[in-house]
Amino acid sequence: MKTTENLISKAYSPEEFQKDVPKLMGMITKELESSLTREVPETIKRLSPEEQLRLWQEDFSSPVRADLPALMEKVMLHSVNFHSKGYVGHQVAVTLPITALTSAMMAYMNNCTTVYELGMAGNAMEKVVISHLAEKFGYNKGATGFVASGGSMGNLTALVTARTSSGIEEKDYHRLAVMVSGEAHYSVERAAKIMGIRSENIIRVSVGDDFGIRPEVLESTYQQAVSEGKIVFCVVGCACTTSVGAFDNLEAVADFAERHQIWFHVDGAHGGAVIFSEKYKHLIKGIERSDSLIVDFHKMMMTPPLSTAIIYNAGNRKVNEFSPKAAYLWQDQLSEEWWNSAKHTLECTKPITILHTYAIMRLYGDEIYQQNVDMLFDMGKQFAEMIKAERNMELALEPKSNIVCFRYITEGADADEVNKKIAQKLLEDGSYYVVSTTVRGKFYLRITIMNPFTDKTCIANLIAKIKEFAEEQE
Ligand SMILES: *Cc1c(COP(=O)(O)O)cnc(C)c1O
Repeated sequence: MKTTENLISKAYSPEEFQKDVPKLMGMITKELESSLTREVPETIKRLSPEEQLRLWQEDFSSPVRADLPALMEKVMLHSVNFHSKGYVGHQVAVTLPITALTSAMMAYMNNCTTVYELGMAGNAMEKVVISHLAEKFGYNKGATGFVASGGSMGNLTALVTARTSSGIEEKDYHRLAVMVSGEAHYSVERAAKIMGIRSENIIRVSVGDDFGIRPEVLESTYQQAVSEGKIVFCVVGCACTTSVGAFDNLEAVADFAERHQIWFHVDGAHGGAVIFSEKYKHLIKGIERSDSLIVDFHKMMMTPPLSTAIIYNAGNRKVNEFSPKAAYLWQDQLSEEWWNSAKHTLECTKPITILHTYAIMRLYGDEIYQQNVDMLFDMGKQFAEMIKAERNMELALEPKSNIVCFRYITEGADADEVNKKIAQKLLEDGSYYVVSTTVRGKFYLRITIMNPFTDKTCIANLIAKIKEFAEEQE
């Protein structure tokens, strides 16, 4: 082993650093350009998990090389390309290119939001953006909130806050129950379980044909729970559900929650962003009456993960959901002190991911969100129309968002099997990344239009490919 080279000096050398910057930024620019212009998309070059592991084991066992661009080329080659027009998979953002730069700044500055002094600008920027969003969502003056590392974390934080604010005594915690759509994201159930809420007290409200909560059963579901000695402290509305993109009737849930003085939380991880769209914000009417909500910046709002706004309507929330005692961070346990944000978040050290969203809002204004939501949701509808026009294809339901579930049907064949094979072939082909889900017990292909450059031609080519893969099986 060489002991003469001072690696610390080398690794921190501005001259060394400068060498890689144009190469890496050039790589991103080139990849972006070809992704947006390529006639036939190249989205995923899938290897099996075993092959992938072997590849990286081999890489790792080769001699150390001071070549970051070469390493990154290799990583990119073996990663899904979100900027590809053929990326229609899960609800992960197609990041705005400027967030590659804000990410670099974030990593270098490495400020965090734990206590004020560790991230002074970041803590204040969070406050500004949260206030702006709270007003957009129609929350009362004085609404508060923070940025959390993801929607799962956001839902958990909101549920803990709901419990603390309910004033229910700890001796009754074993009776606590939460009501949530049968279609809710698994993170809600997981949050409840982490909080020690018993499985039978995570009450799944049945959904209708549109996969939204059936408002007419809220009351009877609640009365049943009460008769069993349960204390329902929170009801969660979905905007929208992950699997099929269904929006709960939030006005009906708000009426119900008000009637029983129950905390009303909205999981708007994906669909909360429709607040920016004149055309689609009707889907979340009633959200202004909720007690808390989350919205992921890293889904419809074009930032890298994890970055989630969690917002509390003014009035209902009691401060200090966690009442942390940490004398090395702050002296006063009880006061709000928004600038010491670790008092309110599950995380201690937390990166200032707000930098992405703050920069987007300053550079492009809210209009960019409106345009993104409108384009993606419009394209979802367009796709659904094209599926309906196909003789051998059907929708699971009429889509309300950019999430569309559909499948191929042929007489005399098991549709589940046919579509599973199609899904596999699509993955092997790699020009599109399409996922799948189960709806009413049946296998469906599932797309989420996340790239605003995924146009009609691109989608028509995907449908043609699916037909080709289906017909090969006949
Ligand atoms: C994605 C999603 C979540 C989870 O959010 P993460 O940021 O992935 O932790 C929760 N709820 C809904 C409705 C979602 O779509």
